[in-house]
Amino acid sequence: QAKKAGRNTMRFFDPRMQQSLSARLALELELRKAIEKDQFQLYYQIQVDETHRPLGAEALLRWMHPEHGLMAPAEFIPMAEETGLIVPIGWWVLETACTQLKAWEKDPLTRNLVLSINVSAKQFHQPDFVDQVQAAVDHYGIDPALLKLELTESILLENVDTTIKRMSALKKTGVGFSLDDFGTGYSSLQYLKRLPLDQLKIDQSFMQEITSDSSDMAIVSTIIAMAQSMQMGVIAEGVETEEQRQLLLRKGCNHFQGYLFSKPVPVEQFEKLLHRG
Ligand code: C2E
Ligand code: MG
Ligand code: MG
Ligand code: MG
Repeated sequence: QAKKAGRNTMRFFDPRMQQSLSARLALELELRKAIEKDQFQLYYQIQVDETHRPLGAEALLRWMHPEHGLMAPAEFIPMAEETGLIVPIGWWVLETACTQLKAWEKDPLTRNLVLSINVSAKQFHQPDFVDQVQAAVDHYGIDPALLKLELTESILLENVDTTIKRMSALKKTGVGFSLDDFGTGYSSLQYLKRLPLDQLKIDQSFMQEITSDSSDMAIVSTIIAMAQSMQMGVIAEGVETEEQRQLLLRKGCNHFQGYLFSKPVPVEQFEKLLHRG
């Protein structure tokens, strides 16, 4: 909060503000160097079906900061967005994900996993976005059907025609799309129908109350029905309890991601998880 205020308002007489501003500047300089210093890492969170069979994973970015330790996206993605650094960081995520998919080809336990990556609006709207994704898929020689791009509604609502063109171009190459954090935005059914989406991802904010709050349950049921009527898949994120899983299953959602199965973990741990079965 202090960091946010420090950015937008000038408060020269508050020494604490001064400090948070300089801390912020320091962090920004460090973020600029983080790629070349190899400080980013992808964590992997498993996605499963109703029989707990692994379907794939979501790649989630972590920054191994030399002093602050492991930093979650909430601590640096906003800054990366504001400074535009999210674009090179996004390319790094794409390349790392493709490298991982290539490595997973060698093991029967991992070779069919679909890897989802998060794409920021700034990155999606780069003029060369389609070319870059295509180039990465070609360069690493991966099966494009194993790469899924998670977009948010805010991306899709900006510049609808360009968005549809870009998605369709990538769709033709075989790459998949999931609509992340679904249910928190304003997309209409009419609009969603025009997008070549493979999957809706039900936002985790609905999970907390799903077993007690009937309006959250109603929203989730509606999302599941929407996905079915548009021939899209649906996955619930933030599933933490067996009770939530059962309820989702009864409503027709049979793909899950959440702490109930595993937290996001480094790749070695993720592979161990798969080998344990
Ligand atoms: P998201 O894409 O919606 O990712 C899901 C977030 O929920 C992750 O937080 C994950 O660790 C957390 N989560 C998963 N299961 C559970 C659960 O059962 N309970 C709870 N309470 N949380 C759960 P994380 O890793 O901190 O990432 C936060 C957000 O940062 C992501 O939300 C995504 O919007 C963004 N992000 C992460 N990695 C990247 C990236 O590589 N690029 C971009 N542009 N954004 C990223
Ligand atoms: Mg996501
Ligand atoms: Mg999400
Ligand atoms: Mg979310």
